[in-house]
Amino acid sequence: MGKIVQLSDELSNKIAAGEVVERPASVVKELVENAIDANSTVIEIELEEAGLSKIRILDNGDGIASEDCLTAFKRHATSKIKTEQDLFRIRTLGFRGEALPSIASVSMLELKTSTGEEAGTHLKLRGGEIVHHELTSSRKGTELVIENLFFNTPARLKYMKTVNTELGNVTDVVNRLAMSHPEVSIRLMHQGRQLLYTNGSGDVRQVLAAIYGMAVAKKMIPINVQSLDYEVNGYVALPEITRASRNYMSTIINGRFVKNYGLLKAVQQGYHTLLPIGRFPIVFLTITMDPLLVDVNVHPAKLEVRLSKEAELFELIEQGVKAAFKKQQLIPDAVVPT
Ligand code: ADP
Ligand code: MG
Repeated sequence: MGKIVQLSDELSNKIAAGEVVERPASVVKELVENAIDANSTVIEIELEEAGLSKIRILDNGDGIASEDCLTAFKRHATSKIKTEQDLFRIRTLGFRGEALPSIASVSMLELKTSTGEEAGTHLKLRGGEIVHHELTSSRKGTELVIENLFFNTPARLKYMKTVNTELGNVTDVVNRLAMSHPEVSIRLMHQGRQLLYTNGSGDVRQVLAAIYGMAVAKKMIPINVQSLDYEVNGYVALPEITRASRNYMSTIINGRFVKNYGLLKAVQQGYHTLLPIGRFPIVFLTITMDPLLVDVNVHPAKLEVRLSKEAELFELIEQGVKAAFKKQQLIPDAVVPT
């Protein structure tokens, strides 16, 4: 008999969960992204103990049809891509079909969902195993409750930080999602206390005010530039308000918050000599491009991306920031080539 065996679904889901579900913040990220992909306009997030004991996410999106509910918890099961070509033209936040099975495998999960056109579904899973399944009447949309995260992976549970640290991670994630989707109203509650509310008006300044405060939002000036391949819109704070880290520099590509050092560097170069050494600006940039020019399939969390034609984009951003300040007469004309 050979030594190699194919692992069970349970075990392979748990292994995948190690990558996709690192902490409560990753669960919140995956579930809110799903709600956004499902065309929700209102998303409510409620946490107990920073999500370690309970995460509840309610959306008013498309819902999952009853015939799809069990498939949604299978690995690599997705409604978002079908063919290899689709992989190069990703327009949704998700596409890997890994979040639901991974999260379910390390928690107690309850799902209530309905498309609004037929009976809804009520499912309960414990460590990925279905323990309850019935049809119910429910309103259009989806409600997911995740309890006792990592109850069956003690090593991971031990690795969790304090409630405050975990809550900080969740807030970062929710803030980023709210900034990238100002057209969706997002509310974050922790133990009955509201931490964030955005009104879904589509005006990103309202979101920036909700996150950074009105005083900062008022000191952000618009930037809009485009080249053949890219369009860059957003707001950059006047250099009089700076921060000690790059965490306040947000870059969004095609609706996805991304981390890319080159983009941040280009922004900083746009500020030219206006920034004190060791200080960083508050910046919000949304970049729109053909999905063919960006590879999001680099890492399971999809935070890193690979860009084609990077140099063109970096140059556009640097010049865009300079032009915004030139309009405010913060940079003398001579610095910006016309
Ligand atoms: P992915 O997002 O990569 O497709 P997931 O495991 O996160 O994979 O979700 C699997 C499928 O379940 C999705 O493709 C989608 O069809 C469905 N789904 C998940 N969450 C929601 C939701 N909140 N509303 C509607 N459909 C959902
Ligand atoms: Mg998903």
